Amino acid sequence: MNHAPVQCTGRATASQELVAAAERYTARTYSPLEVVVARAHGATLTDVEGHEYLDFLAGYSALNFGHGHPAVLAAARAQLERVTLTSRAVHNDQLGPFARELCELLGQDMMLPMNTGAEAVESAIKVARKWGYERKGVAPGRARIVVAAGNFHGRTTTVVSFSDDDDAHRNYGPYTPGFDTVPFGDLAALEAALTEDTVAVLLEPIQGEAGVIVPPPGYLAGVRRCTAERGVLLVADEIQSGLGRTGRTLACDHEGVEADLYLLGKALGGGVLPVSAVVGRAEVLSVLRPGQHGSTFGGNPLAGAVGRAVVGLLATGEPQRAARERGERLHAGLAELAPLGLTAVRGRGLWAGIDIDPRLGTGRECCERLVAHGVIAKDTHGATVRLSPPLVITEEELERGLAALGAVLRGMAAR
Ligand SMILES: *Cc1c(COP(=O)(O)O)cnc(C)c1O
Repeated sequence: MNHAPVQCTGRATASQELVAAAERYTARTYSPLEVVVARAHGATLTDVEGHEYLDFLAGYSALNFGHGHPAVLAAARAQLERVTLTSRAVHNDQLGPFARELCELLGQDMMLPMNTGAEAVESAIKVARKWGYERKGVAPGRARIVVAAGNFHGRTTTVVSFSDDDDAHRNYGPYTPGFDTVPFGDLAALEAALTEDTVAVLLEPIQGEAGVIVPPPGYLAGVRRCTAERGVLLVADEIQSGLGRTGRTLACDHEGVEADLYLLGKALGGGVLPVSAVVGRAEVLSVLRPGQHGSTFGGNPLAGAVGRAVVGLLATGEPQRAARERGERLHAGLAELAPLGLTAVRGRGLWAGIDIDPRLGTGRECCERLVAHGVIAKDTHGATVRLSPPLVITEEELERGLAALGAVLRGMAAR
């Protein structure tokens, strides 16, 4: 290949200039792979030079329905021409139908519309505490919430207060009190942590950021049983696990578990804009009265129109079916590749966390090599690579991605 000798001429490519600008002018909160995306469609990303990549990350599950899904784009385009933002000072003609359709999809009573995932988590913490004081009778200022070690619930000061990830947590104090951490997947530890002041247990049904950690069978059902017995709310953070990713609408559905509050985000915005929600029973969400919580952008008509398109897709059951079918092939393919240098393969549906044998290299190195093979995936916590392609990925694309991973593992072993 004839690559231009960049260093000799001193002339940077368009792509290098764009990377340099991002690195010079944005706070360094990420260390992106060296790909500058200019366009995307379905499961394919195209960079500024026209190279194509398979998207095996899908915006950490914000793009479950792929890039530019026609139904989502059509809903967004139509709404852009009508009205995009009203504030909640007046009603708009999208929020009511969106809320109804989402509640019908999930078999729940009501929803609270927010924007980002972290806001949904914050909102649920407020609702659970208020419910604890007003309905359960917890003494003022004493409410506690049980969370799991290895959790990821977002980046706000309260949420990072109960993160045990050192990078996420360190030097952001003083921290919000009122949280008790127990090991994820250990029912006895969780049960022992419940006190008369516990208002909620907040869990990811499958821990995403921690490396797609699936708890032991029966764990979620056990958590549901003991929280119900003790009058404690179960809050399921389905922001990454929900909306089809695992092959069911919600990850909790696999265990036949019904939470008191569900947190949704990421894919709820159809890959177009941030849309999140707290969904649950009226008995709990009705603790919020006018003026007691809110959001300038939450429930805006553009978000409502996009959210309705997303709910419409899920109501057909097609994304869930695709996640089950493609997910089966993904996990079968990963099992075949495991002897090449994977020390663990976890996951459910079209979602996997794979651990790279440290003798081969790091997760980051694996992802950098995947880029050279035309696949985008992202490492998390050292050795783990998270695979979460859009649910619209074709069989052929999935095979190509698996073949690329095989080639990368062979290349790392051969070094
Ligand atoms: C991404 C994520 C969040 C935070 O969502 P943001 O939109 O980034 O604020 C919260 N919980 C879980 C499980 C997530 O994966």
